[in-house]
Amino acid sequence: MHLICPQCKSDSIIAGISFITGQYKCAECGYTGSFVIEMDDENYRKFLEENGK
Ligand SMILES: [Zn+2]
Repeated sequence: MHLICPQCKSDSIIAGISFITGQYKCAECGYTGSFVIEMDDENYRKFLEENGK
């Protein structure tokens, strides 16, 4: 499972920040929130190809 930032589309998501459960933080853009995009390995591979990485 991969967690993707909804804001900058990076996979640098850190789960469970501070004492608040269900919160995620993006190390790339600083996004913080309870919503992130979840992808399995296959979808993630397609996602990377579409984004030219
Ligand atoms: Zn981000």
